[in-house]
Amino acid sequence: MLDDDLNQLLLIVTIVSGGALWLLEGVAPFFRNRRARLKHALLNFSVAALNALVSSILLAVSLAVLNYVRPHWQGLKGLVENEIAAALLLVVIYDLWMYAWHRLNHAVPFFWRFHRFHHQDSEMDVTTGFRFHPFEIIFSEVIRVPILILLGMGAFEILLYNLLSFPIILMHHSNIALPARLDVALSYLVPSPNVHRLHHSVNPAESNANFGSMLSIWDRLFGSLIWRENLTSLRLGVEVREL
Ligand SMILES: [Zn+2]
Ligand SMILES: [Zn+2]
Repeated sequence: MLDDDLNQLLLIVTIVSGGALWLLEGVAPFFRNRRARLKHALLNFSVAALNALVSSILLAVSLAVLNYVRPHWQGLKGLVENEIAAALLLVVIYDLWMYAWHRLNHAVPFFWRFHRFHHQDSEMDVTTGFRFHPFEIIFSEVIRVPILILLGMGAFEILLYNLLSFPIILMHHSNIALPARLDVALSYLVPSPNVHRLHHSVNPAESNANFGSMLSIWDRLFGSLIWRENLTSLRLGVEVREL
């Protein structure tokens, strides 16, 4: 029952935060040359609809596996007594996995073939946060199962992670022009819009950095955080010769 409530909350939080960011992008855009925003959004949402279907099927299968394993193996979760502390610890460690998985998507040519679909959006905005190649979703859902087992994550922890990370992921993809100081302040905790903008640069030296999803600490810890002052001349997307 709790998981159903969390699922509904996730849907509401995603729609409200996505909608608010979409409106803010219209009022205070970072890149001002955007005209066909609705057409662009419809393309990304059509991909997102397919991905939602694919991931809901694979999630159901993963949860069946996790429920089967749980009586025999509690993973890291079994070592922490306090349930809230355990859930938060798991969510933070799972975010480290997301950081590693994102790096793998850039480092392994086979994975990059699919992940670059996310990067090919040269007019990145909040809807790009939903734009992933369905095969990337499939690989992500399948490859993470041993990680979920190792950590002892179940439906609750997965939903909690999504609930905390989705608004952040939508925010750092959005085309909003945050005051520079606020962007810098945010970047100490989460990847700010400017931090993730650099990750979507056509320049591979810039796109092979800033891999964080929910927390920015992993990029700082593993030396993959880059920063530059003026991003107004930044070109987003993937170089044509690479396609
Ligand atoms: Zn990437
Ligand atoms: Zn991105």
